[in-house]
Amino acid sequence: MPSDSGYRSTSTTRRDKRNTALSADSSTKAEESAISSNGTQTRDASDAFNKLIKRIGQKDSDVDMPGASSSRRSASLSDDGSAAIPGQTLQRDPELWFEDGNLVLVAGGVQFCVYKGLLTSQSAVFKDMLSLPQPISDEAETHDDSSPSRASVHLSDSPEDLRHFLRAFTNGKLRYAMINTVAFHRTVANTEQRDEPGFNEVSACIRLGHKYQCEAVVQSYIDYLKKYYVDNFGAWWDVTTFDPPRFLPIHRIGTVNLARLTGTASLLPVALMACCKLGPELGDGFAREDGTLETLAYADVVRCFVGKARLTEACFVAVHRVFRDVVAGGCQHPAACKGVLQRLLQQVIENEELMEDIRALHFDDAKTGYVDAVDAARALCARCYEMVGEAGRQDEQRREIFRRLPEMMGVEVENWDAGGDAEDEDIKWESEDAL
Ligand SMILES: [Zn+2]
Repeated sequence: MPSDSGYRSTSTTRRDKRNTALSADSSTKAEESAISSNGTQTRDASDAFNKLIKRIGQKDSDVDMPGASSSRRSASLSDDGSAAIPGQTLQRDPELWFEDGNLVLVAGGVQFCVYKGLLTSQSAVFKDMLSLPQPISDEAETHDDSSPSRASVHLSDSPEDLRHFLRAFTNGKLRYAMINTVAFHRTVANTEQRDEPGFNEVSACIRLGHKYQCEAVVQSYIDYLKKYYVDNFGAWWDVTTFDPPRFLPIHRIGTVNLARLTGTASLLPVALMACCKLGPELGDGFAREDGTLETLAYADVVRCFVGKARLTEACFVAVHRVFRDVVAGGCQHPAACKGVLQRLLQQVIENEELMEDIRALHFDDAKTGYVDAVDAARALCARCYEMVGEAGRQDEQRREIFRRLPEMMGVEVENWDAGGDAEDEDIKWESEDAL
């Protein structure tokens, strides 16, 4: 059971715990064929290459994150792909410049020298792009480090994003394979977060992986998000932190947008619910590492607005149902137990902790402390105490709310809460002939 902002009460029963990818369209293919049939006419090839780069630049904006503004801090390179911005000083990236590399990628004035084959083996877009004859370096290129043996490509991405993305192909190759294994043998003691990716890495690798059609990179990081933004109650109960360890609460907005970008609906119910727990910053969004402002799409803001109201109501109803004054089957002294249940129900609105749980949408937090406080003398019989306990009605209600999350958040998810253990305990707590 995840909690946010470190909030989490202890529980004795707790088990402690796409791709609408940018396909190279037919016109690109046609253009490529035309180039082949034209032999090696440099001028035509160069024009075609630049047009392809331009098209990818346009697609970049097509797949921009919902709500992501174009107010990039760094001047985006002209998407004609032909030249650096006049007067711009290019700098080698200190980390991702391999002297024996054969491909120079230029983004936001930063040059990365990497290995063409590593990219083309994973990225259909880079494969297409680099299969075309490369433009001959013109005057504008002379101040960078490209050479006849090094293709040079200008991209409209930010250097921050590109750096994260390229790491997945160089020293990061092992990294993204690793994040789905080592990091998840998590216990309370294993909170050092060494192996956990931060939001900027996850976001950049998914966005650029999507743009350049690197399925393995995208899937790896989506799988990472799925470990936290789960789609079944059993997994929900096992997750010990609400957000990935190196994410900030505001990054929930980014997670929703990544789910939208990749069509990963299963992430949305929990990610949107998590957004509902944000304050006014929900509308403000956040600045990405490269200065880009990222906000929720308007439709998702509305979903949060409506979803928060639904979830608050559901939390109230759940509390009412947990403490309703129907005694348990086999109750030892029904009159006394019924009286306690009525007191539990009546005093809910006077209990600040319980009310705060409802306001904060902590629908799965333990309410046993409240029971113990109201019924300090333990007038409830053992059977009724068990019934209102965490393995009793509390469990029923939190499972019910989790099951309804997609509906409350206004999204449709196939196989939501399937394969969980929601159906394995069908205990009838109340007596059929209860008072
Ligand atoms: Zn009883």
